[in-house]
Amino acid sequence: MSKCELCGEPMPQGEEMFKYHGLSCHCPKPPLPRDNGAEDVKNLIKQITGVDVTVRAFNGEFYVTDPDGQEFKTGLARKH
Ligand SMILES: [Zn+2]
Repeated sequence: MSKCELCGEPMPQGEEMFKYHGLSCHCPKPPLPRDNGAEDVKNLIKQITGVDVTVRAFNGEFYVTDPDGQEFKTGLARKH
């Protein structure tokens, strides 16, 4: 059975060929946690600062690139 790659729920009948919800309906669940947690950090920074940043994990720490292209070390460590 094909499952949504975002939420992990089975795809509705007739949409099995798609990788995730969103065409006929929205995902019923929040996205599955990403492996390295970078997405969580990105969302956290968005909540705190309102800025859309790019987050990457490197050597167990998170690095953030702001919209101006400046990269910062966050000091946050990876959970896994
Ligand atoms: Zn879904």
